[in-house]
Amino acid sequence: MSKGSPVGSQRVVSPAGTLPQAADRLDPNPEIADDEVRVGVERLNLDAASFRQLSTAHGGDGAAVRAAVLDIVERRGKMHNPVTGSGGMLIGTVEAVGPDSPLGLAVGDKIATLVSLTLTPLTITDGLARWDGRSEQVPAAGHAILFGRSIAAVLPSDLPEHLALAVLDVCGAPALVRRVLHRRGPGATVAVIGAAGKSGSLSLAAARDTGAKATLGLVRDEIEAAQLRRLGHADHIVVADATDPLAVARKVDAALDGRGADVTVVCVDAPGCEHGAILATADGGTIVFFSMATSFPAAALGAEGLAADVEMLIGNGYVPGHAAYALALVQGDPRLKELFIGRVGAHEQPAETEEH
Ligand code: NAP
Repeated sequence: MSKGSPVGSQRVVSPAGTLPQAADRLDPNPEIADDEVRVGVERLNLDAASFRQLSTAHGGDGAAVRAAVLDIVERRGKMHNPVTGSGGMLIGTVEAVGPDSPLGLAVGDKIATLVSLTLTPLTITDGLARWDGRSEQVPAAGHAILFGRSIAAVLPSDLPEHLALAVLDVCGAPALVRRVLHRRGPGATVAVIGAAGKSGSLSLAAARDTGAKATLGLVRDEIEAAQLRRLGHADHIVVADATDPLAVARKVDAALDGRGADVTVVCVDAPGCEHGAILATADGGTIVFFSMATSFPAAALGAEGLAADVEMLIGNGYVPGHAAYALALVQGDPRLKELFIGRVGAHEQPAETEEH
């Protein structure tokens, strides 16, 4: 057994000298270094922006989407969508633990990885035969490798696995919202763009939980508006196309009496939401770009071009305590749980009844 680097650089095939996330190709060899962990893969959760891009590119043809995912994993040794640059995460069972692994995992633990698939060495062995290519959650067999600096959570026993996976995939969002609100102090107004989605609804729940003065949810259509009303965490609900900046600004302004939000969280899984978010945010406010479809030049140059004095945060998927906080929000809120169940697909069977 060889000595690994905690950041996994021994797994980089090309280009030499990059870290695994930036690499074109990783080596998913199942033999682990002394600080690595090998996980038997059971289910992938594709990042929403990645799945949307693949589905759109292939006209919703599930077989073509499945072939595209297999091709990416085969070519790159990881599920790293070259167009969106995003990945997702996975659940599986720990198969082997190197003697120097600091992750505290044991063989047989059922875990979710909390580091992106864009840096996780991965091999698929079943051709994704149990997946129809039409949902973000992908039943899969194969193995993945975790490094010394990876993060993983042992799955809670009181949530179906597919639900826990969906929550953990976006668990950085509510933790970041809570952190931003704590830093700003009481009295902040929070607008969530894409509020009926997974990260959006969790962000709204976190804003409520952290004592935001007022919350606004922007959603795509009346169906999502009804879902948000049922959730009960948005004081204001507006329907608009998040990629139409003038419409977003007009509707948010009307709802917030022209003041703009103190904190805006972008949770839409499609590109083009930067300028609407900037216009919706008050001077001195903060924008959290959680979405992986965010363009850094569009955000930075857009804010400059609008002379907008806003702080802009990239939604780092890791905030200490993020997994426990997101799971607690869902476990303590039946309506949030219901919204998640609706999104991850009623056709998905709870993991307890699945064959793996
Ligand atoms: P999601 O559950 O699919 O939610 C996205 C929401 O945005 C959906 O309700 C969607 O509506 C809505 N939407 C799409 N286009 C819209 C438009 N033009 N106007 C208004 N609403 C629109 O996605 P998610 O899992 O929360 O992920 C959201 C984003 O977070 C993705 O870009 C994902 O890549 C990113 N992400 C980031 C991290 C990180 O670490 N920063 C981690 C995981 C995910 P429909 O359902 O009707 O399309």
